[in-house]
Amino acid sequence: MNGPTPPGAPRPARGKVWRTVLCLLPAVLLSACGALSGARLAAPDRFGMSRVDAGLYLENGADAATRARLLGERDQAEAAIRAAYGDVVARPVIHACVSEACYESFGGKGSRAKVYGVRILLSPRGLNWHYLAHEWSHAEMWSRLSLNAWLRLPQWFDEGVAVAISAAPENSEEHWQFLVSAGVPRPPSAELRTFRSLRQWEEAVERYGEKNNAARRARGEAEVRPVYTAAGHELRPWLAKHGSRGLQTLLRRLNEGAEFDAALNAVE
Ligand SMILES: [Zn+2]
Repeated sequence: MNGPTPPGAPRPARGKVWRTVLCLLPAVLLSACGALSGARLAAPDRFGMSRVDAGLYLENGADAATRARLLGERDQAEAAIRAAYGDVVARPVIHACVSEACYESFGGKGSRAKVYGVRILLSPRGLNWHYLAHEWSHAEMWSRLSLNAWLRLPQWFDEGVAVAISAAPENSEEHWQFLVSAGVPRPPSAELRTFRSLRQWEEAVERYGEKNNAARRARGEAEVRPVYTAAGHELRPWLAKHGSRGLQTLLRRLNEGAEFDAALNAVE
């Protein structure tokens, strides 16, 4: 579809249309309702949100303090993206909910935040730079890669970069050490790297019990996030070693048509 596109270069409108359609596909496959809810983000002011600026919509009724805090959190998330990628290409539109009802009405459920292409949806539990930077990293990958290259990007790498950049306490190195000391099963590096498709990733998250945290909380037990945390644990040293230049090189090679493993080996 799209030819090789250097990072940061403007994309043809046709490509954008296809990418918008594609970004809604997972939701379509999950449920028609979910797709409709996600599609509401295209007109947030018709569904209970107000425009703060071109990149931020906030649920009606949110107070001034929340609005001011969110602008600061966005700055911090952008700084984290710039530090990791070298510059910022994606200009996501952020949709922030201060109620769970709002989050669900736009197709969110259970999670703290989600991303549709370059539209980010934040739940009331995700209104900070950590979750924003995580989803922004997904949007950044999406924006920097041609469609064909993006399809070759494995989920473990996409998530690992997002987790590392977000510095979310729940997926931190400290949480990794807790999992190790408590003997909580977690995917070793070789297994993690087999989680290439979204489906494989979701199955692993399920298999390692990462979706059972509500029950753990109810029992007074510590929450565990072995898969996301393993991805962050894998990518932190990679990013520290290769930096934004390494990441840009990898993405450029993908855009030039390289398979992911070859592009990764070229950097390493
Ligand atoms: Zn993610």
